Amino acid sequence: MDYMKSPHEPIHRQLLPWFDQHGRHDLPWQQDKSPYPVWVSEIMLQQTQVNTVIPYYERFMRAFPTIQDLASASIDEVLHLWTGLGYYARARNLHKAAQLIDTQFQGAFPNTLDELQTLPGIGRSTAAAILSICHQQPTAILDGNVKRVLARYHAIERWTGEAEVQKELWQLAEYHTPKQRAGDYTQAIMDLGATICRRSKPSCLLCPLEEKCLASAKGITHRLPLSKPKKAIPLKQVTLSLICNTNKEVLLHKRPPSGIWGGLWSLPEKTAIHSASIMLPEQPDTTLPSFTHTFSHFRLEITPEVYHVNNSLLEANRSVMEGCDLLWYNVDTPKQALGLAAPIKKLLHQFAQRNEP
Ligand code: SF4
Repeated sequence: MDYMKSPHEPIHRQLLPWFDQHGRHDLPWQQDKSPYPVWVSEIMLQQTQVNTVIPYYERFMRAFPTIQDLASASIDEVLHLWTGLGYYARARNLHKAAQLIDTQFQGAFPNTLDELQTLPGIGRSTAAAILSICHQQPTAILDGNVKRVLARYHAIERWTGEAEVQKELWQLAEYHTPKQRAGDYTQAIMDLGATICRRSKPSCLLCPLEEKCLASAKGITHRLPLSKPKKAIPLKQVTLSLICNTNKEVLLHKRPPSGIWGGLWSLPEKTAIHSASIMLPEQPDTTLPSFTHTFSHFRLEITPEVYHVNNSLLEANRSVMEGCDLLWYNVDTPKQALGLAAPIKKLLHQFAQRNEP
């Protein structure tokens, strides 16, 4: 490709002095550059901005200060601390990987690209970030921020998700990564992408790469990186049952481990109610207004149907219910820490407020 032939010198020469002066050095996960905190932060920062991550990271590290604490926690405790951060597969993978490190690596964090990539949720870029930040290994990263910086700097006018473009971007990422100060370079390019070469309105005048940036020279910065060619996102619909007993508790159902809201607690669908042999009245007492939640590949229209039931109807089914991952939950005074799907948590709070005396 043409941009590979353009006469660029490695960008670390401009980037490292800029980082020393303007980079972020005080983030909570920069205080202890050992693999566990760096790994947790890297996973939380995927698809999520620094300011959103900070309180989640601090709570998580207070609850699980070591890999062993995380490995021995229950998945419900982990998901509870992740509630609201989204992309819950990240939390499930973090938990699974901690258990694997504990059992297969005798509790010691792996320190090679190949070994790290055998762990769930750790891809090539995350593995490289951990190795460069914690061990100064000159391993190149290519997360969303880095793709954007490189696509603009080299004026790559193709969608960065294409296999051929990905390959070229990895080559460029490797070319620009220095042998010395690899950890600082990793943080520098992530910082540049997050604070200067932002998705919208990049601050090119403050950018240390501006002089040689091809997108800036061609005046096409605002168009790059090119978005994925659009496909319409399908709309799916689901009816959820909001079943309340006379103790003002709501019946929750634990979702299967994979699929949407995997392992989180939600309101039951009709199928979960049938498998627990719960007989509900044919018509709900009320139907609440539908609302839409957007996932990465589809939108889900949720219609909650409210049933008020008397306790004896469901007490008879208690043992079946427990086998079906159902439990009663008091929204005002929850007795257990559960990972709740974020829109369901919001709905339950709104519902509890509506029903306050
Ligand atoms: S000059 Fe502008 S577009 Fe180019 S790398 Fe810097 S901020 Fe990004």
